[in-house]
Amino acid sequence: MTPHFDPHADFDAPVHAFSCRCPFHARRLFTGALVAGAALPVLGQTADGLREDVGKESRFTKLVPAEQVEAAAEQQYRQMVQQAAQQKALGPADHPQVVRLRTIAQRIIPFSQTWNQRAKQWRWEVNLFGSKQLNAFCMPGGKIAFFYGILSELQLTDDEVATIMGHEVAHALREHARERMGKTAATRIGAGLLSSILGLGSAGDTLLNMGGQLLTLRFSREDESEADIVGMELAARAGYDPAAGVTLWQKMMKASQGAPPEFLSTHPAGETRIRDIQSRLPRVQPIYANAPKPDRKFGPPAPK
Ligand SMILES: [Zn+2]
Repeated sequence: MTPHFDPHADFDAPVHAFSCRCPFHARRLFTGALVAGAALPVLGQTADGLREDVGKESRFTKLVPAEQVEAAAEQQYRQMVQQAAQQKALGPADHPQVVRLRTIAQRIIPFSQTWNQRAKQWRWEVNLFGSKQLNAFCMPGGKIAFFYGILSELQLTDDEVATIMGHEVAHALREHARERMGKTAATRIGAGLLSSILGLGSAGDTLLNMGGQLLTLRFSREDESEADIVGMELAARAGYDPAAGVTLWQKMMKASQGAPPEFLSTHPAGETRIRDIQSRLPRVQPIYANAPKPDRKFGPPAPK
């Protein structure tokens, strides 16, 4: 193993934790076609997966341009990667867990475009950070991060890793960060003023000031629920068992016993979340059954 990576380094980045807000607050809104050309859901047909469970994009999303949000995210991610490298906390490309994460990402990413057309131009990245934190995220523009702690503490299976990755990628595809930023900007300076600022082309400064927000994002319950739904479907299409959402959240709940209060406070509704995942399984299992399965299996890091 390379001496330049310490998986138990204390790398810290207060970015959206995988489990930042978990109460599952189901929102059933019918959306005819989220993506141009998407087929209307047909009753009893499973090919469309869970698309009909996902709500419309928030009116706040369009307040800030996607390009700017993605650029701000890229900048933050770059900084994180650089800092981690300096602290020997950046997993090298040949680390087995980095290989594992990138293999799983490669299977999930092709299915992202049906949820967001921009995703095909994203410069996707997947990195592993040496840290005890139980954390993972995907920033706007496809910048994925996993913290070693979540892989090792929870002894995640490949299916569970795919579930987390699907959930995080779903936040990025559904542009929840952009929506949050739009909401904040609208509250602070007024939506009307914001659009005139953006119209005048000085959006760069506004967005740059808001970029820091990406590090402290808290998503709403609706966003969390949506990320669970979209994530399940992505994982199933990529050939990973969506039932892993159940074991994953059971592990999360167990880990939250005796964990720091902030972790506990972010997991208040584990049982509800698990029930919601279970109730959707019958509709994603057929997708999983028909999906080509990964030919490479990995495992979690050896327990400490
Ligand atoms: Zn989330």
